[in-house]
Amino acid sequence: MSTPKTCIITGASSGVGLWTAKALAERGWHVVMACRDLAKAEAAAAGVGIPADARTLLHIDLGVQASVRAFADAFHALGRPLDALLLNAAVYLPRLESPMRSPEGHEISVATNYFGHFLLAHLLMDDLKRTSRPGAPARLITLGTVTANSEEFGGKVPIPAPADLGDLAGLEAGFQAPVAMIDGQPFKPGKAYKDSKLACMIMSRELHKRFHDDTGIVFNTLYPGCVADTPLFRHAPRAFQRIFPWFQKNITKGYVSQPLAGDRTAQVIAEPAFASLSGVHWSWGNRQKEGRQPFSQPLSARGTNEPRNERLWALTAKMVGV
Ligand code: NAP
Repeated sequence: MSTPKTCIITGASSGVGLWTAKALAERGWHVVMACRDLAKAEAAAAGVGIPADARTLLHIDLGVQASVRAFADAFHALGRPLDALLLNAAVYLPRLESPMRSPEGHEISVATNYFGHFLLAHLLMDDLKRTSRPGAPARLITLGTVTANSEEFGGKVPIPAPADLGDLAGLEAGFQAPVAMIDGQPFKPGKAYKDSKLACMIMSRELHKRFHDDTGIVFNTLYPGCVADTPLFRHAPRAFQRIFPWFQKNITKGYVSQPLAGDRTAQVIAEPAFASLSGVHWSWGNRQKEGRQPFSQPLSARGTNEPRNERLWALTAKMVGV
């Protein structure tokens, strides 16, 4: 029997990450579930029927840089080759009145969703380089979102405040209190999430630009559809949690189930059809009809300003010490 391929999935204890782990295990992969609550992750994995021998659980708190580094050490100690890395975990804290901070003093949504993943990608790049082969590239896949890309129909809906990294004034200033936003503007918790996702989408483009030609590694982002009933929205107002899934199912028709979102993400990680293009943002669009096919979706101008993207990369590298 051939050795199963290995994928690390951050935030595999619920939602898209959990169902991607299941979909990959069903394709014969081994999944390393990188989670901050291992008891919860174990119960979730058993609950959806991921076989014990198809998974390894390792602790990570993406909002704590020392924890990200300890995770990379623990993964290396396993001695497993790494075929794919899925940057999936995220926090969405839209009701915070003042910023929560990571141990490094950074606003927590940006620290967790973006800085933690930027650091992890760097710590595991050599592992991906070692497994990447012509015709069977290693893959580094990042969850994007519609609200960070005004090229998507759903991203055009003007839900204040849209993702916008401005001139990076907050990062330029060191991103310490009282600064809490990448653009240096006053704290808006929902925007902090959207900004962090836009920064992740830009990071993937920069990874592609810097590493694809030399390594063959495929770097892509995706928007699997609106998975309106995951625990991501648990900190949103209760009325929103009731209405949002209904609205997405019946009005926008952008809703996708967690198993379908997991399967789409697993396709981008594992299927040969997704291996030939790098530097792409995959989307299934906002109208989720039966048999919907994926397509490459352009990023908005907010994600394609090359000099600013390069400056974002340099400032972020300084924030995480790589
Ligand atoms: P979810 O069910 O809340 O999953 C988020 C995961 O991230 C959970 O496993 C959570 O762990 C983990 N996480 C949060 N903070 C962490 C930290 N500090 N360290 C390690 N893990 C942490 O949400 P989801 O909807 O599946 O979201 C997954 C991804 O899909 C996100 O990147 C999101 O932006 C993206 N996305 C979602 C949608 C949607 O409609 N839901 C649409 C487009 C894109 P705990 O269980 O410990 O909290």
